Amino acid sequence: MKRVMKASCPLNCWDNCGFLVTVENDRVTKIEGDPDHPITKGKICGRGRMLETRTNSSDRLLYPLKKVNGRFEQISWEQALNEIAAKLSEVKEKYGTTSVLHSHDYSNNGILKNIDQRFFNCYGGVTEIYGSLCWGSGIEAQKWDFGNALSHEPHDLFNSKNIIIWGRNVARTNMHFYENLLKAKKQGAKLYVIDPLYNATAKMADEHITIKPGMDGILAAGVIKEILRLGLEDRAFIEEFTYGFSDLAHLLDGISLKKISEMTEVSAEVITMLARIYADKPSSTFMGLGMQRYKNGGNTIRLIDALAAVSGNVGIPGGGANYANLQVGQSFAFEELTLPNRRTDTRQFSIMKQAEKVLTAKGPEIRMIIVTCGNPLTQVPDSTMVERAFTSVETLVVIDQFMTDTAKLADYVLPATTAFEEEDFYYSSMYHHYVNYGPKLVQEAPGEAKSDLWIWTQLASLLGFGADFDFTRDEWLNMALKPLQEKGMTLESLKKNGTLELPVEKIPWQNRKFKTPTGKFEFTSILGQQKSGSGLLTLAVPDESKWSNQEHAEKYPYNLLTIHPLRSNHSQNYHLLGGQIKPKVEVAKNIAEDLGLIQGDEVRVWNDRGEIKGAISILPAAHPNTINIDEGIWRQFGGPVNNLTSSRESDNGLGSTLYDCLVNLEKI
Ligand code: SF4
Repeated sequence: MKRVMKASCPLNCWDNCGFLVTVENDRVTKIEGDPDHPITKGKICGRGRMLETRTNSSDRLLYPLKKVNGRFEQISWEQALNEIAAKLSEVKEKYGTTSVLHSHDYSNNGILKNIDQRFFNCYGGVTEIYGSLCWGSGIEAQKWDFGNALSHEPHDLFNSKNIIIWGRNVARTNMHFYENLLKAKKQGAKLYVIDPLYNATAKMADEHITIKPGMDGILAAGVIKEILRLGLEDRAFIEEFTYGFSDLAHLLDGISLKKISEMTEVSAEVITMLARIYADKPSSTFMGLGMQRYKNGGNTIRLIDALAAVSGNVGIPGGGANYANLQVGQSFAFEELTLPNRRTDTRQFSIMKQAEKVLTAKGPEIRMIIVTCGNPLTQVPDSTMVERAFTSVETLVVIDQFMTDTAKLADYVLPATTAFEEEDFYYSSMYHHYVNYGPKLVQEAPGEAKSDLWIWTQLASLLGFGADFDFTRDEWLNMALKPLQEKGMTLESLKKNGTLELPVEKIPWQNRKFKTPTGKFEFTSILGQQKSGSGLLTLAVPDESKWSNQEHAEKYPYNLLTIHPLRSNHSQNYHLLGGQIKPKVEVAKNIAEDLGLIQGDEVRVWNDRGEIKGAISILPAAHPNTINIDEGIWRQFGGPVNNLTSSRESDNGLGSTLYDCLVNLEKI
């Protein structure tokens, strides 16, 4: 029998697309876009379509596996769960619950994927991961400045006179925003793209401003300086609704425009042009999730926020410093779902430093790691250390759908269902504010694959807290939706419509009531003061740059970026792409010219942390001395590029420094 059902893309992506999924004889046979979805309107990308291949792949993990003498053996669920539960009991008894590390990431945006937190909280509280490889430093930065990280609703774009896309290739990562940009441009908006790479978004811009990687905050400082010199600032907003402006003005007095131009490698004329654009309101800024992956990452986002504030583009239609939209995720009942009060002990490692901490932690040492929704071996910086750490513990358990690089290291691998084999709802706190229902479309998952929720429920029962997991799917989903029910958003309506609009602020900060300690937009952050010193904005530069370490920059003269791949959501699809996959080393034209390289030459890229080999592709319009190698590539295909990246944390401690990475390159 053939059915076409509404569903949702589960991937951690800006767009959170609505799907129409064809199911024939209990098998997904086609995935298309749902034309009725209010935002994504029937268009989806190849990564979403590939979920059909992913679901039906013959490489799916089908049975629980246990490593015996270095080889995986199929075991029963009963054996796997009993042994894992026994190990959890043993380490709790001997060393305490924080001797278990829960290493997780965001491979799936289903609300019920958060139930792992409930399990570990009821167990007693393990060592948890905090921060984010991706957007963490920017989120924290916006909390310091505004009190929360909020974005304008997608259609407000059409109120903008000028649109500045800063470090974000929406053509690759946010296709529905890209379409709206094309429309806005047709309607007369001017589009400016600031990016070291001349990407598909830059190609349609009125102007592409190429910049030295990691210097975006310095550029924002330069634009503010020019706005002030030209008298184009929004004095009324600054005086009434901001705090700490004199500190910012003082900071900018200490640096010349010439110096800023030299540091950013952006001409003074272009900086002045940007000042006039920002002052010609409304101008909206849409930041990407790459330029904060530096030591100075939080400060970078703070300076761009400050630019939006000084120019009076905060809280107005068509304006905004758009980075993330946390009010989407904040709409659900996370505490009720995850029961943080059940913890009796707790410890946290940053996601960046988890490997180093596993190797060095005392009181207690890490004895067991359980990996959910993640593939740290490819995604976490300094892969060499990650491998050492994850193989150093007594027991490593990985829940996944495929034998990933991380799963290969495990003692137990538990086969998980795909999004179409379990019911959930999906949301993304990145672009739009609609939540999508994801029904269980395939009744019989292949082999013995089980949902994460089933696994936690069984383990909870074995460990004596099964009552905390004794709920039906509907009860779990209702629990998550509880804060919305009084506003008429029920599970029934979500199921009926396939999607629901969350009641969020569509133009944040219009009431000028910021959620900071002063109630104002804070150029000097009180929260920053409380957490890490002065709270002042600075002119900080990346750790790996000639401005911070000349000698290191001479040894490793090229900036390495590791952007999101086009055809894979991080590492999730590489093994399904077919053909011969190997790392593509994209290099700025000057590198190829300086080293006498031609398209396709085999090269080695290296630094003190490791190396990667691949074939070069020349980027004619990329910023000089810039290299890109897409992230996520598996070891069997020549990756991961995180062999080269550093596990340092960003300035505010909550983000990675994946792009703060200098390398050298040679032909092989
Ligand atoms: S990966 Fe993103 S753009 Fe592609 S289908 Fe999924 S949500 Fe849509």
